[in-house]
Amino acid sequence: MSPTSSYPATTDVSIRNQTGEVVLFSWSDFVETICEGRACFICGRTRAEAAFNDEHIVPNWVLHAFDLHKLKITLPNGTPTLYGNYTIPCCERCNSEMSRALESDMSALVKAGPGAIQDHVAAHGGLLPYTWMALIFLKLHLNDRRMRMHLDRRKGDATISADYVWEHMHHVHAVARAFHIDADVELNAMGSMFVFPVDGGDCDFDLHTFTEAQTLYLQLGQTGMIAVFDDSHAATNRVRWVIERIMGAVSPVQARELAVHFAMANLDLENRPRFWTHVSADRNHVTIGGTTDAAAIFRRYDRGLFGHLMEGAFRTPPPILGKTTEEVMAGLAAGEISFLFDADGEFLHDHLQMSKPDETN
Ligand SMILES: [Zn+2]
Repeated sequence: MSPTSSYPATTDVSIRNQTGEVVLFSWSDFVETICEGRACFICGRTRAEAAFNDEHIVPNWVLHAFDLHKLKITLPNGTPTLYGNYTIPCCERCNSEMSRALESDMSALVKAGPGAIQDHVAAHGGLLPYTWMALIFLKLHLNDRRMRMHLDRRKGDATISADYVWEHMHHVHAVARAFHIDADVELNAMGSMFVFPVDGGDCDFDLHTFTEAQTLYLQLGQTGMIAVFDDSHAATNRVRWVIERIMGAVSPVQARELAVHFAMANLDLENRPRFWTHVSADRNHVTIGGTTDAAAIFRRYDRGLFGHLMEGAFRTPPPILGKTTEEVMAGLAAGEISFLFDADGEFLHDHLQMSKPDETN
């Protein structure tokens, strides 16, 4: 008999180790405690059980480094909120652990300047920035009313996509809190991660989420980072044709379009990985993994879907010489506008270098 037990993401009962720490949240515990409750989003303890100091969605050091306290972020549910005001419940212990395990290293890499994150990923792999982005993606969606809407839909007119959203948010949570239970995260449990230079001009920060596509884009200084959380790296292969045609640093607007390609690739993935958690017999060793088919299968490229994602990524469209705003919006929605490539598919080197995505997007 195997010394470990393997659980799918939707296990019925939460598993605790010998010290009482949850090593695997059940489906219902995840929804009730983490998504809908006011418990610490890492360990699941309540305010009655632990001291809380709450956690900024975008970490405080990022808010300081890029002067974001007064700027507004539009949450995935469409509500604009000041970055500095947006926190979620977190206990003091988990908050300090997060600083030690992730924030201090990420902050040092960002302060080290352009190229430092790429060098780190080349030398040590992408787990640190990936986990850090998974935490931000998770925090952005926790307490989001759309999450509850999906839950209601499960009870009522449940759809397959609603199941997907919950199942894969559960997986993001498992990976994002792996540091807390010292779990091993296998390569297949991670998704696509792409780090690249951005020539931002006066724009040094950007953030955009693609909720359904489980994709997050972040620009920190002159570094762009795209992470996809439930594709076991499939999207990176799908968008290789896009990446290979990019011949230099991209502008912030071009970077968002690149993120659209990753998001679309993930939405087009037909045979999604199946994620699981192994717990050792003594319940003290946890491994999070994913099982994929031999080859990823994608739907055919659909211009309409590309347009839908571009429209969402550019709610305030960047100006295009000779076109009215309405024409640009219509072109984006139709999937006919690219800021990355010209009509011949050539990379646009000097296009919109100074354009800044709207802060509220
Ligand atoms: Zn906690």
